[in-house]
Amino acid sequence: MTSRRDFFGRLTGLAKQKKEEERFFPFAPFFDASKADICVVCENPTCVASCPEEIIKKGDKEPPKLDFSKRGCTFCADCASSCSDGVFAPTNGSGISALIEIDPSGCLAWHNTICKSCFDPCLDNAIDFSGLFYPSIIPEKCTACGFCIGVCPANAITLQRNLP
Ligand code: SF4
Ligand code: SF4
Ligand code: SF4
Repeated sequence: MTSRRDFFGRLTGLAKQKKEEERFFPFAPFFDASKADICVVCENPTCVASCPEEIIKKGDKEPPKLDFSKRGCTFCADCASSCSDGVFAPTNGSGISALIEIDPSGCLAWHNTICKSCFDPCLDNAIDFSGLFYPSIIPEKCTACGFCIGVCPANAITLQRNLP
């Protein structure tokens, strides 16, 4: 017979798997998405090696994307001239198109537990705490650098497509 613990463990596992499947990986700054087809057949992804933060990842037959699970983007522009096919270029947009938000349902500081793990890595002062609790991200200040995401012990910081 399935115990309650097994049941809820499986439920949590399924939710985690669903979250993994739904994860959104944005394009890097300086990347021209209209040329992404070139990347699909690229066998020497110099862009991946160019990033000092090691956040540019490329799957087989996929364009390169940013993975913020460990680090974020410093906008150093090392990737900007890394591609001999001109997919990355200094003249391309230097922003990251993504919407970063704190999910109050998962955030410790929204549940009376002191946590400010995301505060210090945000050099843009884009995370607003009301005293010790209730953090939220100020969209006008957030550069979508991603540095707050991997440090959150509760995985409460979400990354989504930035819809127009
Ligand atoms: S700007 Fe720098 S840190 Fe950001 S993706 Fe490019 S190489 Fe990496
Ligand atoms: S993604 Fe936004 S909120 Fe998070 S560290 Fe970067 S600027 Fe701050
Ligand atoms: S690090 Fe995560 S849990 Fe902690 S305050 Fe920030 S969003 Fe909330």
